[in-house]
Amino acid sequence: MLQMKLCGDLVLREKCAPVDEISSDVLSAMDEMVKMMAAQNGVGLAAPQVGITKSFLVMMNPDTGEVFKMINPIIKSRSEKTVVMEEGCLSVLGADDLPVYANVTRPESVVVEWTNERGERLGAEMSGLPARIVQHETDHLNGVLFIDYLSPVKREMVMRKVRRRK
Ligand SMILES: [Zn+2]
Repeated sequence: MLQMKLCGDLVLREKCAPVDEISSDVLSAMDEMVKMMAAQNGVGLAAPQVGITKSFLVMMNPDTGEVFKMINPIIKSRSEKTVVMEEGCLSVLGADDLPVYANVTRPESVVVEWTNERGERLGAEMSGLPARIVQHETDHLNGVLFIDYLSPVKREMVMRKVRRRK
């Protein structure tokens, strides 16, 4: 059973090592992460959020319901155009055990490359929600959380809600 790691846990700040073999451990972790994501109405979950410091993540395109399992994902390019969207994170929960949301500015579209669960290297240009989600989740693999993009005042507003949970 994998356990959700919450804001304050240092595992969320570690840089993940690349996956060099698609082992049954990696595959079963991704299967379980898809279930955890769905159970919490999430749209993405990265390995460090369940305590694994390896470079893989799962995400869903909310527009189509398509689920992606990405191993060693890399964002190859980002659009210059940015867009503001509300973000939350299954590791950043408030007093009601629900994600705390805040507006974050990020590139509108990205080109991402990843290896799928069958070992095939794939690539896609994503925009809209999928672009937002893949940026948020690949950040997790580098120890970055969405609250890192907020102004000190906004970040404190989020953290006050997070602290109220404890
Ligand atoms: Zn997150």
